[in-house]
Amino acid sequence: MNDSHLSSSVSAMKAAVEAVGSTALSREEALLQVAAADLEALLHPSVDDNAARHILAVGLAASPGAASGPIALTSREAEALRARGRQAILVCAQTSPSDIYGIQAAAGILTARGGKTSHAALIARGIGKPCVVGAREVRVDIDSGVVTIGGEALLRGETITIDGGSGEIFAGAVPMAEPSISGDFATLLGWADGVRRMKVRANADTPADARKALAFGAEGIGLCRSEYMLLERTQIDLIRRMILSETEAERRAVLDRLLPMQRAGFAEIFEIMHGRPVTIRLLDAPLHEFLPQSESEILDFSLATGLSPGRVRLLSDSLAEANPLLGHRGCRLAVTYPEIVEMQARAIFEAAIEAGGKTGDPVELEIMVPLIGTAGELAFIETRVQAVAEAVRSERGSVPPYLMGTMIELPGAALRAAEIAERAAFFSFGTNDLTQTVLGISRDDAPAFLSAYLSAGIFDRDPFVTLDRKAVGELIRLAAERGRAARPSLRLAICGEHGGDPDSIAFCEETGLDYVSCSPFRVPVARLAAAQATLRARKRA
Ligand code: PEP
Ligand code: MG
Repeated sequence: MNDSHLSSSVSAMKAAVEAVGSTALSREEALLQVAAADLEALLHPSVDDNAARHILAVGLAASPGAASGPIALTSREAEALRARGRQAILVCAQTSPSDIYGIQAAAGILTARGGKTSHAALIARGIGKPCVVGAREVRVDIDSGVVTIGGEALLRGETITIDGGSGEIFAGAVPMAEPSISGDFATLLGWADGVRRMKVRANADTPADARKALAFGAEGIGLCRSEYMLLERTQIDLIRRMILSETEAERRAVLDRLLPMQRAGFAEIFEIMHGRPVTIRLLDAPLHEFLPQSESEILDFSLATGLSPGRVRLLSDSLAEANPLLGHRGCRLAVTYPEIVEMQARAIFEAAIEAGGKTGDPVELEIMVPLIGTAGELAFIETRVQAVAEAVRSERGSVPPYLMGTMIELPGAALRAAEIAERAAFFSFGTNDLTQTVLGISRDDAPAFLSAYLSAGIFDRDPFVTLDRKAVGELIRLAAERGRAARPSLRLAICGEHGGDPDSIAFCEETGLDYVSCSPFRVPVARLAAAQATLRARKRA
């Protein structure tokens, strides 16, 4: 989105609110006059439309806002620059979970590969950093320190600007316009809250995300990806040790060290949310992505653990996957290593006891199982969680009440919704994976051909951005129907990236979902879009 577009959405809000003041318009009509999708960009700086600029290339707009900074080619470089008081643009082929510090240290992220639900896109959107992904005209050569963008060669350290709202990449530092949030914004959102039927929660993985989510009006957390919380610097090596453990005893010893860290992270989030609902998702880390990748990471890990580099390489190779997003992740980790679930369940219960004691408001606790395809997986995990709950009850005298639910993100799970609902108190549709698995399009590899599909008119929209109603939507409808028939009180939600997209939110309203959950910066969008969807549904009725 450019500056003139931004100011037009500010004007649209102002005009709508003023028209209500002069009684020319009802509040409901005013709410329908503002494009919900435009609100997200109002919370970020943007490229000044009047400034001279030299465009190098265009990628996919993955997280709005603009940022300038020197090029860093690795997370370490981004961190080193940050330590010297400068924020870089992290430029790489694609990011992996171990890049979290680089992403946090950078002002913005630019990747040559990956789609709108790639790792870089999700993390950047979650923390509100500008991000451009799938920029196929970007070539990175770490060894020579040269980045080629749209045919122009730039050196590590040279300044570029990215606009995550338009996907544009510019040479040099382009002047920025700061976000202008007027009182009309708050007024409009207040009206929206009075109208909407669906609740709005946020996807928040860290205490910082949770604070942002609350500030933007989230009513709870609908998805806390527990693996991201474990990416603190000291913890990533522990996660790697856990993954590379060769015996259960070895793994349990590492889990014992992770427990207090995970408990502290959960407790802080529960305290911030102060009695509001929080859905913790059990571990869903594609193992492969957590392994040390480069030679330098292998050497660092070897130094930290005393394992020889050769052994680290051997163990990593034995766990390498060709399709990590369809591999050893989600509840499959819990089935192969139930001791991980046991550690996480204990961390969740103990944190809830601690936070409830501090705030006086017991947390509304929900435990969510990722990537199930059958009721059997849920039963397997539920049994382990219940056993931990019993153990905590006998040690502490009580255990906080909790709901067990599941993500529905595989077609098999949607079709088996009736038997799954017998065990699950809620379903949250993970539409990032559901889109990938229903359409058979890899989340990470889609940009290579998606633009051809869009320009040929085969797809109207990127299905990872706006829910594909005919196939993915149809499965959601079917799962909702079968699930509710089996358990009328079943709560239904969405927590894929579509949860912050207005058209997809309209679909959620039509399908009778109870709430949407999206990145904190999209919560205002979802609040307005949910109100608009309620109003449109009322008109149709
Ligand atoms: C999803 O698949 O929609 C989801 C929310 O989970 P993740 O993006 O972590 O796979
Ligand atoms: Mg998923």
